Amino acid sequence: MRIDEVQRQRDAALAALDAVDDAAALEAWRTAALGRASAVAALLGQIKAVPADERPAFGAAVNAARQALEAAFEARRAALEARALGEALGSDRIDVTLPGTLPPRGGLHPVTRALRRICRIFADMGFQVYQSREVETDDLNFTLLNTPPHHPARDMQDTFYVTDDVVLRTHTSPGQIHAMREHAPEPLRIILPGVVYRNEKITARSEIQFTQIEGLAIGEGITMADLKGTVENFVRRLYGPDRAVRFRASYFPFTEPSAEVDVSCMLCGGRGCQICKGGGWLEIMGCGMVHPTVLANGGYDPDRFTGFAFGGGVERVALLRYGIDDIRHFWANDLRFLEQLR
Ligand SMILES: [Zn+2]
Repeated sequence: MRIDEVQRQRDAALAALDAVDDAAALEAWRTAALGRASAVAALLGQIKAVPADERPAFGAAVNAARQALEAAFEARRAALEARALGEALGSDRIDVTLPGTLPPRGGLHPVTRALRRICRIFADMGFQVYQSREVETDDLNFTLLNTPPHHPARDMQDTFYVTDDVVLRTHTSPGQIHAMREHAPEPLRIILPGVVYRNEKITARSEIQFTQIEGLAIGEGITMADLKGTVENFVRRLYGPDRAVRFRASYFPFTEPSAEVDVSCMLCGGRGCQICKGGGWLEIMGCGMVHPTVLANGGYDPDRFTGFAFGGGVERVALLRYGIDDIRHFWANDLRFLEQLR
């Protein structure tokens, strides 16, 4: 009779638990079904009124009912928590099969790439890279390269002076003097890449800083034929085996004789276009046999040694290669420009 009552209370509490649908209702149920004012507590309070021979069975039944309610409570709580977690994840679920987001990838600057290409071609011909400083004395930038004091290139209008006799190098040629003095009287075959500075108005065609590369070979018995062979080989490897190359007599203070090098226009094949201004030829570098005075300044005996030198702008190589019409793009650091040229 009393045991029936225990089971009835237990079943009523379990039925009530089925209707519990959130954490607050669950807590209210726990207080009602298992708290001090609950039916289970009340039944335990009646234990003294139960006849002694029925007491153990009654006590066991009450304990079993309480354990059943506690187990049901834990199961319900776990189910509600799992449902809440599922709802939270529903809007933010991870699909591990989706492709990942790639980090942005950098690339080499077009001038750096042109420079590396040029260096590779000369490396194949046995030239080594010689790097030299960008701040030079007036002596090294001009005087020792046979540029006399009255020469217009020394004008403040054309050159950035740091102090009265220190300049930002206007060409990579002072490196020739450094290299010669380090190696004389050994034969020399080097290329000198680097940034140079000119005090010019910035336009689509001219910048105050740009990249040059020049070459220098010194030895016994080096002739103009060696210069022409080296330059022609370089130009055809850079611009294509079908390019025509021509040398025009010119003047530079540090070479004698001197020449400008033209290549047949790679854009129109020599027929004439906007890039070659209708002439069919593009001017790409200057060159010549090293002036005896420069050889002597570098520590070589000009009666025994001869040499050739050549040099040109690297931006121009990239301009022609990519069909870029404005040299200012190279230093503007605009990613929209740089990312096109990967
Ligand atoms: Zn052309």
